[in-house]
Amino acid sequence: MNNHMFDAVRSAAAARDAAFIITAGGSVWTYGDMLDFSGRLAGRLLALDVKPGDRVAVQVEKSPEALMLYLACLRAGAVYLPLNTAYTLAELDYFIGDAEPTLVVVPPTSAAGVGPVAAAHGAKLETLDSRGGGSLLDGIGGFSAGFADVARGPDDLAAILYTSGTTGRSKGAMLTHDNLLSNAMTLRDHWRFTARDRLIHALPIFHTHGLFVASNVVLLAGASMFFLPKFDADEVLRLMAAATAMMGVPTFYVRLVQHPGLTREATAGMRLFVSGSAPLLAETHRLFSEKTGHAILERYGMTETNMNTSNTYDGERVAGTVGFPLPGVDLRIVDPDTGTIVAQGKTGMIEVRGPNVFKGYWRMPEKTAAEFRSDGFFITGDLGMVDDRGYVHIVGRGKDLVISGGYNIYPKEVESEIDQLSGVVESAVIGVPHPDFGEGVTAVIVKQPDAAIDEAVVLDGLKSRLARYKQPKKVLFVEDLPRNTMGKVQKNVLRERYKNLYG
Ligand code: ATP
Ligand code: MG
Repeated sequence: MNNHMFDAVRSAAAARDAAFIITAGGSVWTYGDMLDFSGRLAGRLLALDVKPGDRVAVQVEKSPEALMLYLACLRAGAVYLPLNTAYTLAELDYFIGDAEPTLVVVPPTSAAGVGPVAAAHGAKLETLDSRGGGSLLDGIGGFSAGFADVARGPDDLAAILYTSGTTGRSKGAMLTHDNLLSNAMTLRDHWRFTARDRLIHALPIFHTHGLFVASNVVLLAGASMFFLPKFDADEVLRLMAAATAMMGVPTFYVRLVQHPGLTREATAGMRLFVSGSAPLLAETHRLFSEKTGHAILERYGMTETNMNTSNTYDGERVAGTVGFPLPGVDLRIVDPDTGTIVAQGKTGMIEVRGPNVFKGYWRMPEKTAAEFRSDGFFITGDLGMVDDRGYVHIVGRGKDLVISGGYNIYPKEVESEIDQLSGVVESAVIGVPHPDFGEGVTAVIVKQPDAAIDEAVVLDGLKSRLARYKQPKKVLFVEDLPRNTMGKVQKNVLRERYKNLYG
């Protein structure tokens, strides 16, 4: 029987006794353990009446067993549906109602709350805790490790991942076996992963970054990973002595450059640092290479498309860019209104096509139709530009574009200027309803603790740098920018907070 994704995992697997996962506590899961445990768990899923194509919704803490559940779903032909551990019961109700899973898996401590929600939507409930306990694993040893994988073709669904909800309600992205496999193989080759690699894995596994980019690349390289429950700068720095690579969100790198332990010596055994999920500040990139000699490799992707672009392994990794389209990915920049391709160097909507691009939004045929062009390109919603060397720059999200007095203002352009002012840590520029201009350009700034900087200083600093219509109408100072778990700035939160600023 062929199982498109898992056959590839099987054939890439290192020797049975080679390490796959090393936990924070130092326990080792070998490749043999991975094959056996995911097989038993797949048997357990079948016994729970999970049929091919059925959804299995999972909201649990990160653990090796949780990752095994993903693999077990692949093998059982089920559709894995991980959910952010921060989601509340009301949010879970929406996801479970929307996805109609056969089985819902939560920690034992959530069972009392989630039980009625699952039951109301006709789903079974089982539990899994982060230490290998829970009802899902009851009697697991009685299931055969030699599970016969359910046949799945390239186009069958492997997972539904809900988008991060940065711009609105999360949408379920339907990802096929080949979406996952093709992208993971491309990234493995592009970033030169081999069985000798040991990846520091400190990302959550409910999101495309930690689940697919990190875990699938490790699996398909037969490599191993240090599997940490969460990011902790001390722990990560300690592990760098034994690791070869790390994948992280920009927040990881911001914290590392603030840490006195980040040095050339501490990172001497590392060969690769990858960043993605949100824009990495050029300043962070610069500081990191100053302290370590390593140029962080930034890449760009989304839940719907897996990874689209990446800086290259050998070539220059340019700060503030996300590199080139990956092999097999077509990328173009178009005028969002007309759909015509814009000239190189001009900003427009990023559209992508390739084996990485998802099948559509779960039960949203109209939304799916609206986001695809007739020639198969997916409209990402991100604005970007390709420079004269071919590097892709993310300019921001289409939804964040500010239109003030009839002019288009790209927040990132204004943010970049603000970030260069002395005393500024970072900034977010948003459009807020304005009686005269439609939207008023509004700057929200985090300043350095003792910086003598105020609205007048900022406006003065921007005067000669930006056309008048791009200059903020108001400048606000905050302690922190609101961010979600993936480190994405939640501009919708800021827009809501300041919606009455201009009366
Ligand atoms: P939603 O679609 O629900 O609003 P989301 O777009 O944040 O949420 P994800 O799929 O997790 O959900 O994130 C994909 C987005 O993250 C991309 O569309 C892009 O805006 C942003 N992104 C990812 N990598 C980068 C990067 N390297 N630089 C800038 N932005 C990035
Ligand atoms: Mg999105």
